Amino acid sequence: MRFDLGKSCFVDTDVRADAWAVIGADRALRWQQLAEQAHAWAGQAHEHGFAADVPVIVRGHKEAGFFVAMAGALLLGAPFVPVDTIYPDERMRRIASTLGAQTYFDAHSGRFVSLTGRGQGAQMEPVAAASASASASTPPSLHEKNLAYVLFTSGTTGEPKGVQIGRESVAALADWMAADFELGDAPVFLNQAPFSFDLSMYEVFGTLALGGTAVLASRAMTAQGAPFLANLARHGVTTWVSTPSFAQLQLLNPQFSQVGLPALDTFLFCGEVLPVALARQLRQRFPAARIINTYGPTEATVATTWIVVDDAVLAHHARLPIGRAKRGAEVFVDDGELCIAGAHVMRGYLNREDLNAARMFTHHGERAFRTGDLGAVDADGLLFCQGRIDDQIKMGGYRIELMEIDAALRALPDAASAAAVPLRRPDGSVARIVAFVATGSDDGRLPGALHDWKALLAARLPSYMIPSELLACRTLPVSVNFKIDRVQLAQDYRDVHVNAQRQHNG
Ligand code: AMP
Repeated sequence: MRFDLGKSCFVDTDVRADAWAVIGADRALRWQQLAEQAHAWAGQAHEHGFAADVPVIVRGHKEAGFFVAMAGALLLGAPFVPVDTIYPDERMRRIASTLGAQTYFDAHSGRFVSLTGRGQGAQMEPVAAASASASASTPPSLHEKNLAYVLFTSGTTGEPKGVQIGRESVAALADWMAADFELGDAPVFLNQAPFSFDLSMYEVFGTLALGGTAVLASRAMTAQGAPFLANLARHGVTTWVSTPSFAQLQLLNPQFSQVGLPALDTFLFCGEVLPVALARQLRQRFPAARIINTYGPTEATVATTWIVVDDAVLAHHARLPIGRAKRGAEVFVDDGELCIAGAHVMRGYLNREDLNAARMFTHHGERAFRTGDLGAVDADGLLFCQGRIDDQIKMGGYRIELMEIDAALRALPDAASAAAVPLRRPDGSVARIVAFVATGSDDGRLPGALHDWKALLAARLPSYMIPSELLACRTLPVSVNFKIDRVQLAQDYRDVHVNAQRQHNG
């Protein structure tokens, strides 16, 4: 069985109906069960007032029910809005308010939950279908029609921005995976990235369209190391999908090898730079596996360019290329910036006409997007991604707008002037984030109201966006164009630490 993304229904329903579709953190579902439960979910959602083009927030972490809800939403024609529990309540509320939503589906309890009340004291209560008045509890339908999902990503203003992805875009994604990735019949995917991170849509749409299996690995499971890998071996995972950072962590474990994972034949990477050293180590540990480096922003449905990183590619490059545009897409460099055109480009950010005007345009009759990535093409036509034009960073694979952290810091008491600063390794990757708050004094002491700054930030930001340290300074330095000089602040941080280290060493 599989899910036809063009027709939005399950097809080939008597073929391998008893094969595993989803191995959730809580329970496993065969294809037959996935189809039945997705239909039942769509019926339930309909009773709660959800319908075609009415977005439905699905919140949870790696439950089989999360997958059921996404498939059910596709059946119903309701764009799903995936929200992992790594996002604090406050962030989910802001997403809900952008959508005008008052109800969401909680994959953990398997119930629709009402977001009643306002502000911090607001309650989240299960809501019964009978009590739900459609007009009161469901968001208005979206202006954009036939969307598959709306995925919220870090926004510079402090508000997450909703990337609207059409059904034609996910169909193009699945067609590309089927045509070029050589994943075989019914691939078994590792799904580890949160569903609120678009990398995970590889496994969602790959599993659905190819009739495969998704093995959902929770944060608790992946933290276990050896048992996590043993679980992947038990389920015969064939296709590893992650950021390079996540694979790098696994190298610490000797079981992460062809012997430990004998069925694994493909590494599918996206989301950040794939370091040459990591690719080399993987070639040694998994001599029979293909390594595919893919590149692309959430705004262009998971990935847009690709290259198989074999020994020849490794021999010729000190920094890996991101390859060539996928079928049906065009990628070009305009004034140093990578631009993407094709049917897989988003319909636009939800309610952000300002951003849409600045970042979207039409190219050869197709939707096109300015990525904000610096790019280049070599004489062979291979594309390279060379960092960012703006203050967006990647840390451990997570996409973070530093200005979103700034906004959260400035909302803290006595922190009207504050900035987040990435500390980079020699290769340019971000090791951690620290933050500075201007106090007008040289004593280096934080205002008393900031003693529990981490807890205050955690109410608003996901854990991966919270700086590891907050330091006081007299004023924040600015560059020639009067932007906060984060490079200078990183240098100040190093100076303070080098001095402290020298004093410590006597
Ligand atoms: P996201 O929207 O989370 O997928 O992040 C997209 C951004 O991650 C891109 O705009 C790039 O800055 C970066 N990125 C994604 N894939 C790659 C890659 N293969 N190599 C280098 N940078 C990448």
